[in-house]
Amino acid sequence: GQAQAAPQQGSELLPGVKSVIAIASGKGGVGKSTTAVNLATAMAAQNVRVGLLDCDIYGPSIPRMLNLSGQPELVGERTLRPMANYGIKCMSIGFLVAEDTAMIWRGPMVMQALEQMMRDVDWGELDVLLCDLPPGTGDAQLTMAQRVPLTGAVIVSTPQDIALLDVTRGINMFQQVNVPIFGVVENMSYYVCPECGHRAEIFHHGGARETARRLGVDFLGEIPLHLDIRTTSDSGRPIVVTQPDSPHAASYRRIAAGL
Ligand code: ADP
Repeated sequence: GQAQAAPQQGSELLPGVKSVIAIASGKGGVGKSTTAVNLATAMAAQNVRVGLLDCDIYGPSIPRMLNLSGQPELVGERTLRPMANYGIKCMSIGFLVAEDTAMIWRGPMVMQALEQMMRDVDWGELDVLLCDLPPGTGDAQLTMAQRVPLTGAVIVSTPQDIALLDVTRGINMFQQVNVPIFGVVENMSYYVCPECGHRAEIFHHGGARETARRLGVDFLGEIPLHLDIRTTSDSGRPIVVTQPDSPHAASYRRIAAGL
């Protein structure tokens, strides 16, 4: 890919949006979408006007995590009104195709769909649009990082070495296209047994903090591996909304406040 300066706020694609933040990860399954949803709900709770754009064309999971279904309303000729829940405006390809449909689109079609989800959606005025990028650091992600007018990127990782290698790749990818790295979040950082309180560092806690330090980027915080985070996320009732007094919700709020 060719290096290109990050577009300024209020870009042609997203004129009313002050800040566009990518939530990215080097590989799938690290909890990127869960983190994106909980950060978005934390922002909404703080009266930030927030949107969440699901850029994962091949595996959109945001509609389910925000308990959204059905189809967005068409306003005018070709503008879609974003769906909304928990104070978050949301657009996803998942609203436009059946959930169990395999996407066989090629790269250019994906790019077009992505542009339409920015340009042809009535996002209105937003303080922040979080973009849940597809996992990985391949060509597709690089092109997206170039096309989406990003203000900055947050990298989500689990703490084990193999995931951290991907953090380095992810950071390199954004640097190639001059997108500032806002920092790294360590997800599934440790596990506390709900029965006895014993803490187990299943994936080797602290690796993301150490990697961030080594690469000279901020460490934004850690989220433990916890059953309630999984069940709330997978059932469309984010923990920040359903258990606002939990320490997990507080962690998400802390990270969101720093963005
Ligand atoms: P990704 O977007 O990186 O592919 P997801 O957000 O879809 O990952 O998360 C993958 C699975 O892990 C989901 O079932 C989700 O509920 C679960 N999960 C994510 N973060 C946590 C966590 N901190 N504790 C427990 N389960 C989690």
